[in-house]
Amino acid sequence: RKGNVIITGASSGLGLATAKALAETGEWHVIMACRNFLKAERAAKSFGITKENYTVLHLDLASLDSVRQFVDNFHRLGRPLDVLVCNAAVYQPTAKEPSFTAEGFELSVGTNHLGHFLLARLLLDDMKQSDYQSKRLIIVGSITGNTNTLAGNVPPKANLGDLRGLAAGLAGLNSSSMIDGGEFDGAKAYKDSKVCNMLTMQEFHRRYHEETGIAFASLYPGCIATTGLFREHIPLFRLLFPPFQKYITKGYVSEEEAGKRLAQVASDPSLTKSGVYWSWNKNSASFENQLSKEASDAEKARRLWEISEKLVGLA
Ligand code: NDP
Repeated sequence: RKGNVIITGASSGLGLATAKALAETGEWHVIMACRNFLKAERAAKSFGITKENYTVLHLDLASLDSVRQFVDNFHRLGRPLDVLVCNAAVYQPTAKEPSFTAEGFELSVGTNHLGHFLLARLLLDDMKQSDYQSKRLIIVGSITGNTNTLAGNVPPKANLGDLRGLAAGLAGLNSSSMIDGGEFDGAKAYKDSKVCNMLTMQEFHRRYHEETGIAFASLYPGCIATTGLFREHIPLFRLLFPPFQKYITKGYVSEEEAGKRLAQVASDPSLTKSGVYWSWNKNSASFENQLSKEASDAEKARRLWEISEKLVGLA
């Protein structure tokens, strides 16, 4: 049978390119989990994804109610779940003030981490029940959260500290809107959320890989300097960032190539290892990369898991 894959944020950028790469193999039915239903439908059409290979379902990761509704709606489709790709993200590098999710969590961590954390936890049972030969849960990471790299050392650096802001609810009014309890910084909040994504993948691996056989993985697909992720950046940055990445850092990768990489992690028979953070070298060959000290801190991953469970109402 065809595999069934859910991709969050499949209405643009990396998620859309991945949806296309998987759908056009004819071996996958892609559930595009998107906050903007019409945009997703239009995107699928303009990318030439054929109707029988995809379904759009509404999902707003900035609302835990919406995450729960999405899971109910997915169940109504009556399809098994074989692969889940947590891809959607918001990035607010120029925001002066924090904004918040429906439940009042700072938006970047609330969407990128907490929304996906609840989604993945709620869908784990579906994946357990699937009889597919190679089940995978993929969470898109980033080099910017990895302080063992050059890009990860551009300030403000990711740092979750002792998680005191998260434990207090990231609410910004009576507590801090930042995980480490510090002052709001939109670029740092994004990087912190990506560290959470990478820690979550490893904690899933430790808790569930042996029991379920599901492969849990993360990846850095390269710098896709042209996606909507940078939509809130200043115009000069948006103008100069793609050529800078292409010609200076040479870390640039097209949306199409990045989509192929994520599709590989989701489906390639040679990338089944669990607990891995994948990257690609200059020849576009995949390799197991090292995470930074913080992004591979098992004790921090455990505490992040436990606090996140409380915040999303699972504990
Ligand atoms: P885009 O902004 O193009 O895509 C992000 C997607 O997330 C969009 O489809 C967007 O929906 C969706 N989204 C945002 N908020 C929500 C929400 N509340 N609920 C549901 N969906 C939401 O950026 P990219 O394609 O670049 O980003 C995809 C992933 O790749 C992210 O995880 C990012 O961190 C990661 N990444 C990107 C890199 C890059 O260089 N671009 C490098 C490394 C990692 P909508 O279309 O409605 O706006």
